[in-house]
Amino acid sequence: MDQTPLHVIVVGGGVSGLGTALALARRGHEVTVIERDHTPMPTSADEAFAWDRRGAPQVRHSHAFLARLRNMLLNEYPDVYRTLLDEGASEMRFGDDLPPEMVGFERQPDDDELVMLACRRTTFEWVVRRAAIAEGGVTFRTGVGVAGVLAEPTADGATLVTGVRLVDGAELSADLVIAANGRRSAAPDWITAAGGHRVPEEVEDTGIVYFSRFYRLRDGQQYPPRGGPIGGDLGYVKYGVFVGDNNTFSVTLATSTEDHELRKVLVDPVVFDSAARQLVATSAWLDGRAEPITDNVFVMAGLLNRWRDFVLDGEPSALGLLPVGDAILCTNPLYGRGCTAAFWGAHLIADAISSHSGDLRAIALAYDAALREQIYPWYRSGVEQDGEARRVSTAMLAGEDPDGDADDPRTFMRGVFRDGLLPAMRSDPVVLRAFFRSFNLLTSPDAMVKDPDVGARVFAVWQDRENRPPEPRLGPKRRGDFLELLPV
Ligand SMILES: Cc1cc2nc3c(=O)[nH]c(=O)nc-3n(C[C@H](O)[C@H](O)[C@H](O)COP(=O)(O)OP(=O)(O)OC[C@H]3O[C@@H](n4cnc5c(N)ncnc54)[C@H](O)[C@@H]3O)c2cc1C
Repeated sequence: MDQTPLHVIVVGGGVSGLGTALALARRGHEVTVIERDHTPMPTSADEAFAWDRRGAPQVRHSHAFLARLRNMLLNEYPDVYRTLLDEGASEMRFGDDLPPEMVGFERQPDDDELVMLACRRTTFEWVVRRAAIAEGGVTFRTGVGVAGVLAEPTADGATLVTGVRLVDGAELSADLVIAANGRRSAAPDWITAAGGHRVPEEVEDTGIVYFSRFYRLRDGQQYPPRGGPIGGDLGYVKYGVFVGDNNTFSVTLATSTEDHELRKVLVDPVVFDSAARQLVATSAWLDGRAEPITDNVFVMAGLLNRWRDFVLDGEPSALGLLPVGDAILCTNPLYGRGCTAAFWGAHLIADAISSHSGDLRAIALAYDAALREQIYPWYRSGVEQDGEARRVSTAMLAGEDPDGDADDPRTFMRGVFRDGLLPAMRSDPVVLRAFFRSFNLLTSPDAMVKDPDVGARVFAVWQDRENRPPEPRLGPKRRGDFLELLPV
């Protein structure tokens, strides 16, 4: 500890709140986490799965934990990582489950960092919460919400947040407040109500709705081989299967928000299971080897891409309050980036505090600059990718050819993606590795596009497209055919 310990209030005990509590406690600060959901400490992963998490309903949806997050845990909290594995999480190592067509794969030294963590989101929270509390400097209060912030003006006209006011009227003071209260965070309103600057935001609906259900393998059963696809994008539905801890897994189907017909039927568990059986990557998982552990299909809409400017023109909206996780940036869940961005952001806060001992303005500016440099580019690339996906699903819903105008250069690029990149990822380890490094946030968002070797390999596969058998099916090509197969 190279500075005076701060007393920090963290509002919200989700991934970003837990990451902040752990990072700050290990650096000697005193942390109080205030979590509105009544979530007493469970004694097992299954008890954690039964938590009432209405404040973070996405915990009942599939969660991928990307390699960047896994590596932060492994390198900075090896004890926590070990506990996750001991509690039933597992590693998904690049190279372990390769497509059968893959030729010439040889492990590279940095493949050791290309490992994802497979576990349920609630298991992750349970283990990290336990570790944060075990640090000694962390107090966890659940079942009580924060209603606003306490603040006072500074001599130079800024607003200084000095603590929080709870829903029951109690006031708690702090040296620093962290808004880790998720996608519905009211932090911008709290700041303006306290006299701080407005917090502008850019926001766009991702255009998708999530449907998820969880299952557990029956005794003696195994997960199906994972060398083939574990998900797919048929345009009208995107889907995937996610391995969890303790023999669990989940299936997620995502439709367009505009597709009222599919939205209506997929909430029915019988229809949902049947739909998953029509899809190549999920059918083997629902062949009787597993049974559902959630009666319902969980549905989540209102999925946003959103970035909030808590620092505008070099001026923090308020001093003494830092937002983290979904409170500052939300990304399309399909890319699985949210928890990694949340945990990463928590560490950027801890680094800014360590570098600017007690200077709240310098901490806010350093944190903001790091976020913009390291995490914002991933947000932007997701927004761009979503624009294209939305165009395809809208065309399919209207019964139009999603490939569009043959003279449009984007049509050409889509062809290269479909007939070059996707098959190359099945056959060429260099391309697959580059894709996975990007997907797992281990490179910059444009690293793959800028890599001439990867580009040449993809183009070679694309040029050979006429000499290959047609692409394997991932499910019914046409939405109408898919609908006809469902028991409705
Ligand atoms: C459907 C869906 C699927 C997703 N899939 C993935 C995935 O595969 N991989 C991935 O990495 N990310 C995924 N994400 C994103 C990920 O869930 C979020 O990015 C992550 O939860 C952000 O963590 P957080 O701590 O900022 O917010 P949250 O986890 O939402 O936690 C916020 C917490 O604050 C509490 N809270 C709110 N208001 C108050 C208050 N006033 N007082 C006290 N407490 C309060 C809430 O109860 C909640 O516990 C998905 C998101 C969705 C919606």
